[in-house]
Amino acid sequence: MTTGLTAHPSDGTTSSGECREDLSWFDVAGDNAAIGMAVVSVDGHYLRVNEALCRMAGLPARDLVGRSTLDITHPEDRHLSARAYPEVYADGSDCHRMEKRFLRPDGTIVQVIRTTKLVRDGAGLPAYLFAQYVDVTQRNARFAGLAELGQRALDHATTEALSAEARGLVSTMLGVNEDIAAGALGAKPDVLAVLPIDDQGFVRSVRNVLDAAHARSRAEDETRRMAMQDSLTGLANRALLSQRIDQALTKVSPGREYVCVLMLDLDGFKRVNDSLGHARGDALLRDVAQRLMGAVRPTDTIARLGGDEFAVLVTGLAAPEESEVVAQRLLAALKTPFSSGGRAVHLSASVGVTSARTRSVTTANLLADADLAMYEAKMSGKGRYVVFAPTFRKAAAGRLALEEDLRSAVSEGAFELHFQPIVDLVTGKWSHVEALVRWPHPTRGMVPPLDFIPLAEDTGLVVPLGQWVLEKALEHRVSWSSLGGDDTGFGVAVNVSVRQLAEPGFVEFVRAAVERSGLPPSSITLEVTESVFMDDNQTNIKALEALREIGVRIALDDFGTGYSSLSYLRRFRIDVLKLDRSFVSGLLGSAQDRAVTRAVIDLASHLELELVAEGIETQEQLELLRQLGCRLGQGYLMHRPMPAASVVEIYPRLITGL
Ligand code: C2E
Ligand code: MG
Ligand code: MG
Repeated sequence: MTTGLTAHPSDGTTSSGECREDLSWFDVAGDNAAIGMAVVSVDGHYLRVNEALCRMAGLPARDLVGRSTLDITHPEDRHLSARAYPEVYADGSDCHRMEKRFLRPDGTIVQVIRTTKLVRDGAGLPAYLFAQYVDVTQRNARFAGLAELGQRALDHATTEALSAEARGLVSTMLGVNEDIAAGALGAKPDVLAVLPIDDQGFVRSVRNVLDAAHARSRAEDETRRMAMQDSLTGLANRALLSQRIDQALTKVSPGREYVCVLMLDLDGFKRVNDSLGHARGDALLRDVAQRLMGAVRPTDTIARLGGDEFAVLVTGLAAPEESEVVAQRLLAALKTPFSSGGRAVHLSASVGVTSARTRSVTTANLLADADLAMYEAKMSGKGRYVVFAPTFRKAAAGRLALEEDLRSAVSEGAFELHFQPIVDLVTGKWSHVEALVRWPHPTRGMVPPLDFIPLAEDTGLVVPLGQWVLEKALEHRVSWSSLGGDDTGFGVAVNVSVRQLAEPGFVEFVRAAVERSGLPPSSITLEVTESVFMDDNQTNIKALEALREIGVRIALDDFGTGYSSLSYLRRFRIDVLKLDRSFVSGLLGSAQDRAVTRAVIDLASHLELELVAEGIETQEQLELLRQLGCRLGQGYLMHRPMPAASVVEIYPRLITGL
């Protein structure tokens, strides 16, 4: 026991750097320790210090012993130490850990982690504190350096800048030159191996930050590339094309060179896609992309805008006419048939061309104009290119207006039905009347269906329109039930778009309409085109089957014009084939058309289908069809489509022969 120590009057602790306990053990334990150690009185004065602590504090032992620990603590951290002591007594664990700074007499700062343990006397009262100090100045500096490097990586510093900073950091922290730092970072085993373990760990940490930054920047590059690329074909996408057009427009020297945009859309690709299946369709699109790439210069940008739509940006043209040469090259590139699954596939495209040489044009305008020109190319027969003309804009505005008008006409049911008889070519008796929709437009006059059915199909308006047509046609047919007197009368045929068939609830709608009408279902024929069979997922076929279950008949309209094979005639039972008008009009002049007609008549008779020849306009056509054995026909020669009132007028006269 050390003597001469003053006991605290109330709690047995000592004050002013005194302690009753024997501290001689400290000299043995503390002297050779690598970490700082001290015995501190319960009121915070050093009683014993070791050599390592003296080095940290920058003071010899004689200057430290007897001093308050607060004296060497950085002024800003003193409150931490002051708070620590009561906590050591209070929390029951008798242990405490904190991080604080020493301020040395020479002004340098040392960061330490201090751990204290309260030692109690025999009576359990606080006797003194045993403190250990670890110098973490270097460790903290390294952490800070790493954190800063990490932040720079997050701030998207370039890979080179980041590597240079990493080299600098390692060289400063390890006190080595930049070459050694670079070698260590470059994972040179011989350089790394000679470093102390702590330093090796630090170098690895720096390298981890660098690796993560590089990996992230590579991933970001890839994302950027993907965002600008069409994933199917690897061509540019719309975003990249727009960017390139922007650049080309700002670079163009006014009056000197032209920037040209070509918009290309494959003709009827949807059908090809539906019949081949999507995987082959995709492969075809990739082939198309390859061919198109071969048709332009490497400096031109070729993009896929989606679906079967492509666009090409050509710059540096001396005259706008040169863009037409590019259009011709693109069309020519598609001429040779493609091959898919061992089959030759013929593809063509419609191309819209536009060029500009002023900076006043915007990218959006150029693309829109090329698009309008492409639309004109489609409308004027496909497989061609059309150069943009300002009148196209007016036409497009007209189409928009038409769509608006159509929308309100559909909601008001502002249509009329005309009826064209399908007659027995021998007896002249009416087999059916085909309902053909007409749109009496307030300013355009009577709009024929071919001018608005495609628009109605595109917009989905054909669904409500088709419902109106079916209900009206049946209504008319019901109103004519007494026309034929005792005669069994004629059936009614209604055209149905593929778009309607695919609509959920269509079959139910037909069933209800037929029931409401009270007509025998077999007197109702629904006319669909061959395109219903170009359907991968069989939705249409299922709808057709359900319709036949209702008892209505199914006719294949415009037979012979579709992109199809005959195999569906085996798979699905049809009631009527309507031979397309084009064959009938070619009957007399073309041996091929005669052959096709003969073959279709034969086919129909073998499959026991009813056959209707469409578009009979001359007596000669009629005679020939009769000779070939065709029983039914439809055409201007017999009757033009007529309003319902004419049916009421004409039919009874026919029946009675008046
Ligand atoms: P479609 O179903 O093949 O109807 C026959 C078309 O040929 C009718 O044209 C008819 O007027 C015309 N036509 C009939 N005989 C002759 C002839 O001897 N010579 C010529 N040159 N043409 C003749 P329309 O009424 O203009 O209808 C055209 C097409 O519009 C129809 O072809 C049909 O596909 C579609 N369509 C008509 N009404 C409807 C409808 O209510 N719904 C749907 N989805 N499509 C309809
Ligand atoms: Mg028809
Ligand atoms: Mg037809």
